[in-house]
Amino acid sequence: VQEKLEVLKQNTHNTVNALLDNLALDLADKVDTKIANGETIGLLEGIPFGIKDVYMVQGTKTTASSDLLKNYKSAYTATAIQKLLDAGAIPIVKENCDSFGHGSSSENTIFGAVKNAINPDLVGGGSSGGSAVNVAKDYTVFSIGGDTGGSVRQPAGYNKVYGLKPTYGRISRFGLMAYASSTDCVGPIAKSIEDIRIVLNVMSGKDVKDQTSYASAEITQDTISTSEQIKTVGYFKNFIETDAIDANIKTDFLKAIEKIKAKGIEIKALDFFESETLVSTYYTLAMAETASNLSRLDGTNYGNRIEADNLKETYAVTRSENFSEETKRRIVGGNQVLSQGFSDEIYLKGLALRDSISENFERDFEAVDIILSPVTPNTPPKIGDSLKDPHAMYLSDAYTVGFSLGQLPTLTVPQGTETGLQITAAKHNDELVLKFANFLK
Ligand code: GLN
Repeated sequence: VQEKLEVLKQNTHNTVNALLDNLALDLADKVDTKIANGETIGLLEGIPFGIKDVYMVQGTKTTASSDLLKNYKSAYTATAIQKLLDAGAIPIVKENCDSFGHGSSSENTIFGAVKNAINPDLVGGGSSGGSAVNVAKDYTVFSIGGDTGGSVRQPAGYNKVYGLKPTYGRISRFGLMAYASSTDCVGPIAKSIEDIRIVLNVMSGKDVKDQTSYASAEITQDTISTSEQIKTVGYFKNFIETDAIDANIKTDFLKAIEKIKAKGIEIKALDFFESETLVSTYYTLAMAETASNLSRLDGTNYGNRIEADNLKETYAVTRSENFSEETKRRIVGGNQVLSQGFSDEIYLKGLALRDSISENFERDFEAVDIILSPVTPNTPPKIGDSLKDPHAMYLSDAYTVGFSLGQLPTLTVPQGTETGLQITAAKHNDELVLKFANFLK
């Protein structure tokens, strides 16, 4: 723990919003004492991990990488984090990310752009960029990111590590700062499938504090070490047969498909919604939900209040000065989507499209066991480029957002293409995702 804290202090990748040194060293002492007394310790006891700075950890700052909450102290601890603490894991760092999860590059942050672990001129990916880079650089053993539309999978891909978005509800969202509540997921990032499996098991389960959470069976090593159940793999034709995909990612993906075929698995090319439809459906709903969720941040109960002449002005100044350009873009967009006269045409249409997307997945999973996709159509951009063109940034999420809308379990594996492969199974079938990842190794 001490070693990791030292290395994190010196890191030049902008992954750290706050070090949890006091808490971490205190917890490490307790594990040391246990070992000195000859007590047996659990699998996760003493293991240092990182937390995206959108999770509550009682007594520590949770800033969401924003000016608005830069001094906000968590009043309680998120369920997923509490479960890791109960298992003896040691949180050492609150990790840099896009403010409120808004972004795909971890540049929308008051703590400076996160630098890619492999090439520091490139972005770390986002929004859980700090978490993925910390794992890739061995600054943490594992990190807990948050994935609303790809924020665990995409940075995992950009930094060549594993990142899982479990089925929506498998892990309680209590204490994860809400971005878009209907797709927000707690997601582990690690260097091996085994570590993902262990951490997933610890965090999973029904929680009375999140009514969308559900109870799930433990995933054992044995159940993921057989590939018997996997007979058919599908991929979306339009994700691959398009000019919008990087040529190398396309070639590598088709090679990966051929390799899987050679192992005796049937491959099916599937029809799917156009990237533009997926991206606009996701952003319509995500902006609507974030505009609602962030309406509480007006400086009254939380955050960096800026006083003005009257209450209304105080709200306006507090929000205008403290939210980033990207967050304001989403609040304005979301309020437009939800406003009278527009909501039928935009919001309800978005919901209807989401239903069609989910139905499409249900049909697909009658025909295939796994859907395979590149994580992104593009390789990581240079730092600075995404900020110039938000629309291009939204489009780079084309391959991840659909699975979020479908609330499906989906995992990035750092092989196959330059930004990794994304393995997706039917709802609640997280086990099959890990099984297929094991099979690909
Ligand atoms: N890039 C997507 C967005 O900005 C996804 C972010 C996330 O999953 N938090 O909405």
